[in-house]
Amino acid sequence: MDLKQWIRDVPNFPVEGVIFRDITPLLQDPKAFRYALDELEKYCRTKEIDVIVAIEARGYILAAPLADRLGVGFVPARKPGKLPWDRIREEYQLEYGMAALEMHADAIKPGQKVLIVDDVIATGGTLSATKRLVERLGGQVVGFACLVELTFLNGRRTLEGYDFFSLIQY
Ligand code: AMP
Repeated sequence: MDLKQWIRDVPNFPVEGVIFRDITPLLQDPKAFRYALDELEKYCRTKEIDVIVAIEARGYILAAPLADRLGVGFVPARKPGKLPWDRIREEYQLEYGMAALEMHADAIKPGQKVLIVDDVIATGGTLSATKRLVERLGGQVVGFACLVELTFLNGRRTLEGYDFFSLIQY
């Protein structure tokens, strides 16, 4: 199945010069959504995983059903100020300015095997920051899975030494 048919390209969003890869048409189509989850699940099953960590907000849409299919826990990495309990934070560079992600301090137990999921990898800054959060808590990152990879930005480079999987490449 060519999943690119269900990815909408939106030029100049959210800023001039960026082509936004909108996954909502794929989510709207039950067959395409299930196929994407099936393929991501196949990758996940090549790994031993205790917990899936996903990134707010679109990462959750893919990661929550995957965690349920695999019978593993789900942990959200959230934008600052959203988590109610003790938390740790990692800051990272965006194209314009800085961003940060937080995770509850008790979200990962030392030694747990963690797969990190998001919808799109661009520069890799978001996934790298999430990896640092997991590793600060003693988790072992066993891989990364994304629906869409913007290969020309070479985000994979920031995850060198780790296993990375994407379903759709631009
Ligand atoms: P990065 O940290 O540069 O890898 O950016 C990844 C994050 O930004 C992901 O959470 C994506 O949802 C979002 N993102 C970045 N670029 C795009 C794009 N061209 N289309 C859709 N989402 C994007």
